[in-house]
Formats: sequence, C-alpha cells, structure tokens
Amino acid sequence: MRIGGKKIEKVRVYGDAFLAKKAEDVKSVDDKILKFAEVLTNTMIEFDGVGLAATQVGVGLRIIALGVPLPKDEDGNVRISSPGEAILLNRMPLVLINPEIISFGVAMSVRDEGCLSVPDIYAPVARPSTVVFQAQILGAESFTLECGGLLARAVQHEVDHLNGILFVDRLTEEAFAKIEPALGKLKRRYARMKFLRKLIRKKENE
Ligand SMILES: [Zn+2]
Repeated sequence: MRIGGKKIEKVRVYGDAFLAKKAEDVKSVDDKILKFAEVLTNTMIEFDGVGLAATQVGVGLRIIALGVPLPKDEDGNVRISSPGEAILLNRMPLVLINPEIISFGVAMSVRDEGCLSVPDIYAPVARPSTVVFQAQILGAESFTLECGGLLARAVQHEVDHLNGILFVDRLTEEAFAKIEPALGKLKRRYARMKFLRKLIRKKENE
C-alpha cells in the first residue's frame, strides 16, 4: 500500500504464524534489499515504531530498522550511557543487516514494552541492560559496539523477532496472565480475518 506517495507494508499481527519463523542471513546487499530497506523504514516511521524487523512485514531475512530516540532527562539534556548510543543514535533511522547480539550484560532492567505486531498491549519485560551488538549498517560500515539504554532494549526486541520470539514470550507468568485476554482477542481477530480472506479467494476462483 502507499501513504503520502511512500510505499509501506502491512504489519503482521499476533496469531500470524510468520512471526514465529526464524529469519535467514542476508547473503548480499543487492537492489532488492535496498528497496526493501526503504519500505521497512517507511513502515516503521508511518506506524511510529522504535524498531521494525523484516519478519513483521512477512520477509524472512535478518534485517531490522531502528528509530530509537535520543534519551533525555527531565531538563531535556541528552543522557548517553554507552558507546553504541553515542555512535548510532545520531544516525537514526538506521537499517541493519545481519544484526547479532554477541554478549549480554549481567545487570537486568525491567521496562514496559509494546510492539507493532501486538497492537495496544504493553507489559513489563526484564532484559539485560547492556549488550554487545554487531551488525552492518546498510550502505555503510559494520560495527561491534556495547549498547545500553533504550537502544539495548530495542535491539534485543528486534533480534528476538528475527528468531521468531515476541516480547509476550518473555513475560513473567503474572504479567502474561494480565494480558492474556487481550492476546486471545488479537488471535481470534487474526483467525477470523484469515478465514474471511480464504472465503473471498474461494469466491474469486469460482
Ligand atoms: Zn516488536
């Protein structure tokens, strides 16, 4: 679909089996990948995401878009806590090829997460506060950097997507129980839509 002249993709929603698939490495960055990167970025921006993984728009390749904002304190001063944030945050939005988390920090932090594939549902997720993260920036260099703050959380969330894992898979039993009814609704809505699409296709083929 197109919005304001820009091509964007439909974001797959909870219940869609594609979200549980593991994505494959990108072997070479060709024209097709460049075009897709633009669509992925446009889609993330259109839906106000902090990140978007290729699998969320039905492409099984290890590509993510990131649009992590600069962290600011109450006085509006930028507060950067890691080399990764210092180097990457000024270059957002970014498309990263074959992102990989090399190691996880020991300290954990808990923060509410949401996801464009799990609309309107938020829940607290415990994750390591820092990660050592490696990727190739589309059209630029490869890097290995220690990342903290929201950037560390966003890259873990997006790399999870590439491995078929959603943030709702990482909740405590208690937190999961709280959102289970809403998740059930999403799942049933997806099943109904799938059924309707099937009916329409059948009708078209008759
Ligand atoms: Zn997500």
